[in-house]
Amino acid sequence: MNQMLQKHFLSQVDVEDLLKEYGSPLYVYDEKTLRERVKEMVNLLPYPWFGASCSIKANSNLFLLEILKEEGMDADAMSPGEIYLLEKAGFDGSRIFYICNNVSAEEMKYALDRGILISVDSLSQLEMLGRINRGGEVALRFNPGTGAGHHEKVITAGAGTKFGIQENMIEDTKAIAKKYGLRIVGINQHIGSLFLDGKPFIDSVKALLRIAAQFDNLEFVDLGGGFGIPYRRFHGEKHLDLQELRNELAPLLLDFRKQYGGGLKFKIEPGRYPFAECGAILGTVHAVKTNYGTEYIGTDIGFNVLMRPMLYDSYHEIVAFRNNKIIEARDEEKVTIVGNICETGDILARDRYMPPLQEGDVLGVLDAGAYGYVMSSNYNQRLRPAEVLITLNGDIRLIRRRDTLEDLLVGFRF
Ligand SMILES: *Cc1c(COP(=O)(O)O)cnc(C)c1O
Repeated sequence: MNQMLQKHFLSQVDVEDLLKEYGSPLYVYDEKTLRERVKEMVNLLPYPWFGASCSIKANSNLFLLEILKEEGMDADAMSPGEIYLLEKAGFDGSRIFYICNNVSAEEMKYALDRGILISVDSLSQLEMLGRINRGGEVALRFNPGTGAGHHEKVITAGAGTKFGIQENMIEDTKAIAKKYGLRIVGINQHIGSLFLDGKPFIDSVKALLRIAAQFDNLEFVDLGGGFGIPYRRFHGEKHLDLQELRNELAPLLLDFRKQYGGGLKFKIEPGRYPFAECGAILGTVHAVKTNYGTEYIGTDIGFNVLMRPMLYDSYHEIVAFRNNKIIEARDEEKVTIVGNICETGDILARDRYMPPLQEGDVLGVLDAGAYGYVMSSNYNQRLRPAEVLITLNGDIRLIRRRDTLEDLLVGFRF
């Protein structure tokens, strides 16, 4: 573990000093890692007609969004709040794609007023958009009938999921579009989250291309996100093989473009991939106890700080530090690492082998940059942590301050 961590950005900072300065727990991001991962997605295929849009539900920190923009990524939004933040980060409407699901006409109008293209995912929402945007443009989200993902809750296509339009409703979409003079300019899909093997993705791309062929004059086909990262990095889990993915994807898209004609564009919409590895959470051990044979490590990293383990049974590698140094991993003990929230389910890691820990030790939860802070909350009226960025030249920059007790009153001031 020690060796594997040597290249990790956490081994390049004094973790205890960071917590002293910014409070514990703390989200730490690494600019270099973020830029690398963003570039990998933007350049997945080296063609001018290929691009990547980030699904910013995975991380909506304004400063990180600015970096994405600089690196040439566009963005997908799923709510007016995300659109609002993207605008603040300097994205103009032409670089934002609103992929919505069961929204009101007012929400659609919010996007339209900003020149943002909307993707609808039901006939009913297509009708709604038609009524308020006659003669406009629209994209359609299809459900290709198969999904993929690391947990039932994150599979977003196939029978039994709420997303997308079924392939056998293509004629209905055309009829509704015709009724309102809507131009169908793009189609998109998202089959699910966190694949490390490209096969289900490639299968879904084939399915989407089959659907695309049934529309004339599309301007783009959006293949979705779900690109996984190796959360079990200390256990031999391998990075997604981008070269292999490229080799499979490129001929499919090149062939299709040739047949389809026009200036058809393709894009992907990763959310986790750019962000996950560039972020970690630091927290503090406050208690060590044994309850009926289970050894518990009590920390300040509750599910209000990181929801994924409780919500999806997710696994994150965890590293321990003492006096700013990684604790040598001899004689590991099996422990259950928990937070400080008053719920039994508040478990960060169950039956995990860790070096002997004591009060005051610092834990680093790796790969927490995606679906981390965005899902944090004030549950138990705890303060959400600060976020800091390790910049390219190694400086630490505060990119979101920690909540204050005063912040808990914001909603009551009217
Ligand atoms: C969440 C989401 C994504 C991103 O998923 P990741 O697994 O984080 O890559 C992309 N597209 C849509 C429509 C989504 O809802």
